[in-house]
Amino acid sequence: MKFMPVLSDDLLKDVDKVEVYVATIKNKLQTNQVLELLKDIYPLKSVAHLKRIKSNKEKQCLNVIICLTSEVDGINVLESNSELSKVLQNFKREFVSLTKPLTRKQFEQASKLWPTSFHEDKEIKKLVSGAILTSDEMKQSAVYMQLAESVAIQSKEDTSATVIIDPTCNTILACACDCSHVHDPLHHSAMVAIDMVATLQGGGAYTALRYKETTEGYLIVDGAHLYSGMTYEQTSTPPSRIVTKRHDGYLCTGYDVYTTHEPCVMCCMALLHSRVRRVFFKHVNLSAGGFGSVYKIHCEEGLNHHFEVFRNVSHKRPHLEV
Ligand SMILES: [Zn+2]
Repeated sequence: MKFMPVLSDDLLKDVDKVEVYVATIKNKLQTNQVLELLKDIYPLKSVAHLKRIKSNKEKQCLNVIICLTSEVDGINVLESNSELSKVLQNFKREFVSLTKPLTRKQFEQASKLWPTSFHEDKEIKKLVSGAILTSDEMKQSAVYMQLAESVAIQSKEDTSATVIIDPTCNTILACACDCSHVHDPLHHSAMVAIDMVATLQGGGAYTALRYKETTEGYLIVDGAHLYSGMTYEQTSTPPSRIVTKRHDGYLCTGYDVYTTHEPCVMCCMALLHSRVRRVFFKHVNLSAGGFGSVYKIHCEEGLNHHFEVFRNVSHKRPHLEV
């Protein structure tokens, strides 16, 4: 099993282009003077990542960006400017990169258009290459995903299952199968797993579900109760091991989540609200998935918690709607 990050569109997209006016500097010795002149008239703040000068080695001359084409009313305005025409010639239009490159691929695209500054962010580099996960983390991830899969297979419906881990001590906290077909249609496995963590912290809201503590000390849905009797008792036996409440008031700060299927938008938001650290999933959910298929909720700039999501890329199986 191999996991790769689900990247934001900002990292995946081609660079956006914008049209500018450029011209050739008549006398290379006047380059500084030209730059000072242009800096005052057209500061080019919206494309500050671009270098203003481009060397044309073939013609042994220097070209300079004057301004965006949207800033002036036609090329004749520049040509008829006496200050500019004194030092510049061969006015023309060119496309350059509008957006600052975030990845090396974008930098290479942008540089083909016009010289661009680029300071590679080490974290982004690791994310794009997949090297953000160490080989130990990759191996550990496969083990937890197999646990989630075994729970999903054991459940009668063979739908999804979710496991929540505290990675600081590699401790399994919760292991939930999908319970939406049993009691409440909203009891998706991720929702149940979060409720289990709440239960471990002395809370929990899904009183209709009975949780059982395993000998390893984590909670699972009591399968026998769930699938045979269907008698919904109102309370579960409180777990013997109570996890200390998080200082920040959130349920899953710093925890990792392994779920067999890409969570739906509701579950993605629940994971976001509980402040998870990382989410791993195996199968995509093309019709409702919120971590890449329909939305990329973990990348939404307007939301107040961002986290990493990893998708299994070594296994393809028909998606399930969960
Ligand atoms: Zn869901």
